[in-house]
Amino acid sequence: MSIDSSSLFGALFTPPAMARVVPVLVPLPVPVAYSYAVPDGMHVEPGSVVQVPIGPRQVIGVVWDGGDDASASKLDPKKVRPITLVFDCPPLSKEMRDFIDWVAAYTLSPPGLVARMAIRAPAALDPEPMVEGLRFLGGQPERLTPARTRVMELAATQEQPWTRRGLAHAANVSLSVVDGLMAQGVFETLFLAPPPVVARPDQDFAEPRLEGPQKAAAEEIVAAVAKGGYSAALIDGVTGSGKTEVYFEAIAESLRQGRQVLILLPEIALTPAFLERFEARFGAKPAEWHSDLSPRVREKVWRGVVTGEVRVVAGARSALFLPFEELGLIVVDEEHDPAYKQEDRVFYHARDMAVVRGRIGDFPVVLVSATPSVESQVNGLAGRYNTVHLPTRFGDAALPDLHLVDMRRHPPERGGFLSPILLRGIKRTLEKGEQSLLFLNRRGYAPLTLCRVCGHRFQCPQCSSWLVEHRFRNQIQCHQCGYSERTPEACPDCGTLDHLVACGPGVERIAEEVEKHFPDARTIVLSSDMLGGVKRIRLELEAIAKGDVDIVIGTQLVAKGHNFPLMTLVGIVDADLGLSNGDPRAAERTFQLLSQVTGRAGRTGLKSHGLIQTFQPQHPVMQAIVSGDAHAFYEREIEERQKAVLPPFGRLASLIVSAETRAEAETHARALRAAAPNVTGISVLGPAEAPLALVRGRHRFRLLVHGRRNSDMQSFLKTMIAQGPKARSSVQIQLDVDPQSFL
Ligand code: ADP
Ligand code: ZN
Repeated sequence: MSIDSSSLFGALFTPPAMARVVPVLVPLPVPVAYSYAVPDGMHVEPGSVVQVPIGPRQVIGVVWDGGDDASASKLDPKKVRPITLVFDCPPLSKEMRDFIDWVAAYTLSPPGLVARMAIRAPAALDPEPMVEGLRFLGGQPERLTPARTRVMELAATQEQPWTRRGLAHAANVSLSVVDGLMAQGVFETLFLAPPPVVARPDQDFAEPRLEGPQKAAAEEIVAAVAKGGYSAALIDGVTGSGKTEVYFEAIAESLRQGRQVLILLPEIALTPAFLERFEARFGAKPAEWHSDLSPRVREKVWRGVVTGEVRVVAGARSALFLPFEELGLIVVDEEHDPAYKQEDRVFYHARDMAVVRGRIGDFPVVLVSATPSVESQVNGLAGRYNTVHLPTRFGDAALPDLHLVDMRRHPPERGGFLSPILLRGIKRTLEKGEQSLLFLNRRGYAPLTLCRVCGHRFQCPQCSSWLVEHRFRNQIQCHQCGYSERTPEACPDCGTLDHLVACGPGVERIAEEVEKHFPDARTIVLSSDMLGGVKRIRLELEAIAKGDVDIVIGTQLVAKGHNFPLMTLVGIVDADLGLSNGDPRAAERTFQLLSQVTGRAGRTGLKSHGLIQTFQPQHPVMQAIVSGDAHAFYEREIEERQKAVLPPFGRLASLIVSAETRAEAETHARALRAAAPNVTGISVLGPAEAPLALVRGRHRFRLLVHGRRNSDMQSFLKTMIAQGPKARSSVQIQLDVDPQSFL
């Protein structure tokens, strides 16, 4: 009789667990998870954050689902490489993993690159070390100096332990004084949990008084949060109507239920006033999340979000991928803002994906805007979103009086860009001691420089764009790739000296004109390329709010969300700028931008004006702005989109094929086009040379895929790429589902 050895030994001892093989998402542009063996004694589960080898490197990955049924489990553990280590942090939740899978499938992005967005702070994966604290024991040191006395007197005033540095700083002595006292046994050392990155917000800290439409709106939104489960709401209210107060109530309700909250904002790094306002309502600031954080703060916030210590995050679009422990509400403020679209590696729209995250996590999502996107308006009309309206400004503040300035009838003086009407407006505002804002969405001095003698135009050597003169920096720069050179004195073509002319205005040039007319006014230019970066911009914004500036000349940076109490005049230098760029959303975008900018005026009850310089006063966008009839504008816009089967009534995807030579890019794009499957309801336009034909030395061709609303765009694109020409390292294909940019 043969003996089955396994049953025999099984009775005597448990054999060492056979190593398993699990799928792991790695941060590489590959379509599938890789397989790794779990060494004996290591515990991993789906969601565990691990370190794994790839070739000679170690990378951070996430153990993924499907380990039991997939082919991975059939692999021999001895033949695959083992996981190196598991980080000591909670695994990504099922909800988070489903969200990552969904985003990857929808945007057709490699899942490992999507997962990577959730673990962007690698150093935070291990718990923060404890910090050393000092407790005052009393007693007498051998020698008492004035500095030592100061430290001891101060130490005696506080029960809680001190940090070494904190005590030295508070007593205004050097660290060595504290160390000396420690050596003498005056303090005992102990280890403390590191301090939290932000305090806990208190939902009842300072409840506002809401009345009228604000109260009704808040009640509706709060009810949805109280009820729980997925829902989507749109708060549609004019600038200054109190939308922020309304969604703060939704946040309070979510906190009451013990859930975490995410607030998305397009320019969080530039809106410190928002954090203060939150603090005034909740007694503590929210944690911030954006690219301008120091690595240390970033790590602390990430860890706080995962462990649940951080209750509210106010962040830029990337905050959407933070692995919250128990997220219960997402607010997307300024939901129409183009900054929510990421166009790099993973192409996604944070507003749309926020709604998806709410659906997967089964919690409410609140979108907020004074000028909602057509997409959200249509979702509201179709009943998919619950729209609440706030039609008037809060308190006695009125919206500014808006007037079009017909530039054909009121031209500026030679060489200038400001009409006499606008100049008169600025003068009156100055006389009243109030502020003016001149808006022009163009950085630098002039968008184009040419030689008056031979006509040479300065172009970027690696992009199809003109070099923009920046007079403050004495440079000409490419706004596509950042290439720059010193502004030359002679034309590189004909060699003539001092005959270069600036064509068209940028903010710096407008500032020059303003200074000429108003030499005594305090003037400032604000744009994203300001010397001194975000810190400096924050300071300048504060100075404006305090009234330290008379005339602000700015790009869209000043359009967003700021509250400038003394600002009573907004002048739009070139309202037509965004209208003719071939973008199907051009009218909508212009309407939104002009409404936002003019909405900066008169937020505190002072009478305010907007002057809009245009060569097309009859254009529907201009008419909609001055009439204040946003409703009619949107109705028309929606009708046109419907007729043309454009989003949200149809679907778009764009493919950009780029290569080092024009011929290679074109050939590849044509072959890709030829590989498109035949599907009713989906068609491919192009390839055509992209409007930005050359970027960073790469030639670009575009294909635009257009489909009906219910068409399966993703399958179509996958087939097209699979059947298309073989991938080559010299050719890149960028795939953008729901594109916002058509350049
Ligand atoms: P929006 O977000 O719609 O632009 P805000 O929420 O910023 O509008 O409100 C505009 C101004 O009115 C702010 O200064 C805000 O503090 C004030 N405000 C709004 N609602 C209230 C309220 N219920 N009580 C007191 N002040 C309010
Ligand atoms: Zn360039």
